[in-house]
Amino acid sequence: MNPSDGPRFDSRSDAAKSLHSVRLEPEKCVGCTTCIKKCPTEAIRVRKGRARIIDERCIDCGECIRTCPHGAKKAVSDPLSLIAGYRRTIAIPAPALYAQFDERWSIDRLLSGLLALGFDEVFEVAEAAEIVTAATQELMKRADLPRPLISSACPAVVKLVQLRYPSLIPHLVPLLPPVEVAARIAKERLHGGEEGVGAFLVSPCAGKVTTARAPVGYERSALDGVIGIKDLYVPLRGVLGTAPERALSRAGRAGVEWARTEGEADALGERRSISVDGIAAVIGVLEALENEKLNDVAYIEALACPAGCVGGPLTVENPYIARNRLRNRAEALPPRAARAPYEAPSLAELAWTRPPAARRALALDPDMLKAMIMMEEMDLLASSLPGLDCGSCGAPSCQALAEDVVRGLASPTDCIFKLRENVRELAGKLLALEEIKPPGLDKE
Ligand code: SF4
Ligand code: SF4
Repeated sequence: MNPSDGPRFDSRSDAAKSLHSVRLEPEKCVGCTTCIKKCPTEAIRVRKGRARIIDERCIDCGECIRTCPHGAKKAVSDPLSLIAGYRRTIAIPAPALYAQFDERWSIDRLLSGLLALGFDEVFEVAEAAEIVTAATQELMKRADLPRPLISSACPAVVKLVQLRYPSLIPHLVPLLPPVEVAARIAKERLHGGEEGVGAFLVSPCAGKVTTARAPVGYERSALDGVIGIKDLYVPLRGVLGTAPERALSRAGRAGVEWARTEGEADALGERRSISVDGIAAVIGVLEALENEKLNDVAYIEALACPAGCVGGPLTVENPYIARNRLRNRAEALPPRAARAPYEAPSLAELAWTRPPAARRALALDPDMLKAMIMMEEMDLLASSLPGLDCGSCGAPSCQALAEDVVRGLASPTDCIFKLRENVRELAGKLLALEEIKPPGLDKE
């Protein structure tokens, strides 16, 4: 199961202009600094009245989209028109799609609607999720892996671990995520890696737009594009009433429920697991693990979005309504997927081929000596700042401002307290000068 060569992503699309899916819409930003405090990796600065995202630190968690009161952050994905460049196209719908529509529309009808929009086939991510569940159950039997294992299905969580908790990298489940497994089965198992066949994820998630271009854990993705659910929602709604319904759905309850928090752990059947959603709560759990406070936990299902993938920034429905819908839909499904018309990939085929490394975005300089000198300067400056973390300098904390200063990206006087201190000092010097003026100079 190796992704074959062929046309790759539309270089003209908005999503392709940067590796990241989460972007700023500068004309909407008023520089209010609300977002800088919420970013889990301190990836945002406000300078000259506008926010700016530091690419190396962004994990595409979408938190800034949720918190910006002015709608100045957005997640971009590929346009549906991208499929026109392929001889045969396969839609790879994430199960979160099913939760965007009320139960009046069956899963078969939603999948048939995708065909009416121009796709030739569908392959459900939920079906691949069941394959990943079975492989994870095998890994859980191995005594040589650390406990707890941390799910690697959420790309934002994997990047968060790389950036903030590198000591936890060995805990990540070393398997391809379901979206990638789905694309590989659809293209390679079912089409023999034929030229001109494209696989397009229908995604709730900004992070998956990014990992399709720059995968973590493997060299190359089999996906040829990632289309946001929010961009397909209106056209899909438009064809649901008229598209002939075909029996296309094969996934069972176990795979479909991966789209909500606790779904993955339920499918795994591991009772000693923690399921956590929302980036702040995920950080709390990872910190507890790093501080060796989690005893007797075998598995952590960690999802950056509220309520799980159903709450991704590329969805349209309220996350909690969507989660409820998904539960209702799943209850009517068989426990597992119907028998598949292909040979299931082996554990070796599902394994990571390039385990993730610690991300060095936080390193001050590649030269160790230089980095140590900068670190000293940074600590000295930080200790002279008021420690209020007020954000009025445009950095999320006094420590972050000190770091920006030693990197040459900010000035100490961006801090209003430092500025006031400097002005007071200057005024004092001017007064002193006044006092030592030679006699006669003050006369007109
Ligand atoms: S929250 Fe951030 S992006 Fe939104 S307006 Fe304020 S500074 Fe700009
Ligand atoms: S997407 Fe997440 S990591 Fe990236 S800038 Fe926004 S809040 Fe920060």
